[in-house]
Amino acid sequence: MTRLLFVHAHPDDETLATGIGIAWALQQGHDVDVLTCTLGDEGEVIPPRLGHLIAARDDSLWAHRRGELGRAMARLAEARTGGARLRHTLLGDEQWSMPGASVTPAASKPVRYRDSGMAGTPSAAHPRAFVGADLAEAAEAVVEVLQESDPDLVVTYDADGGYGHPDHIQTRRVVLAALARLGTDLPALVEIVTPQSWVDQDRRWLRAHVPVGKGLIIPSPQSPYAVSVVPDGIVTHEVVAPELVGVQANALREHETQVVVGEGYYALSNGIAARLSGREAYAAIDPTTGRRQARASGAKTSRLVSSGAPGGDANINEGQVSADAQE
Ligand SMILES: [Zn+2]
Repeated sequence: MTRLLFVHAHPDDETLATGIGIAWALQQGHDVDVLTCTLGDEGEVIPPRLGHLIAARDDSLWAHRRGELGRAMARLAEARTGGARLRHTLLGDEQWSMPGASVTPAASKPVRYRDSGMAGTPSAAHPRAFVGADLAEAAEAVVEVLQESDPDLVVTYDADGGYGHPDHIQTRRVVLAALARLGTDLPALVEIVTPQSWVDQDRRWLRAHVPVGKGLIIPSPQSPYAVSVVPDGIVTHEVVAPELVGVQANALREHETQVVVGEGYYALSNGIAARLSGREAYAAIDPTTGRRQARASGAKTSRLVSSGAPGGDANINEGQVSADAQE
């Protein structure tokens, strides 16, 4: 059994970016902790009936999204087998919630850090904006989580935060700063990436499967790639579990302010269709330097966590690729 810690910036990121990895790890009997750094206060709201929650009106989206996050975690927890544990906490909050085992704490007050909003927006100047957090103080809060969670593997964003959101970039910075404070006996660290061949396959799939008339934008084969898209050779670890798309889709539906979910695809408020492909890719990074540990040429991609016998996870502790890890 391995302990995994996923560190995310906002509610919905855990499911959007790593819902398959979380569900798969739980299904394999591993313990999973999720840390979310802000409550997504500055998000847009898709359903008109909830439009009043936005920061510019009631500024109560954070409370609503806390509830969405708790319910999404409960959906992901449905993938558990063999006593695997799923816990969740917010940065600067000492409480851990365990979906299915206890009620999510009441959304009574904001958490320490506030969503900074998209790059270049005035919300970044808010006194609690995560992007303006004192790095040492935020890192110390992550250290507390690392000490409590004691993970074998930490999963977070790449240096561009997946798509350039300042809170995602800050999340990775804070994780690296926290690991530097821990000093020794560090967990393995991977960043979330998207291999180019998957993007090309998913774009073809979307053209074939998303009904016209849904009002969604289908990315053309010529659209520029997102910053998290990498050459396939960068990927060191992956989870391929299309059978878990249903679990991920159910969790995504709980984030109703942020996501519209269709058959095998979803869209955010930008209306761009994206595939729920049932697979996620990661690149091992050195937990002390943040540098990518490139895959040796010819080496296969490892599973995110080796399944099976205790001690079978040596490959992730080393941050190395073991050629026999893929079955
Ligand atoms: Zn986010």
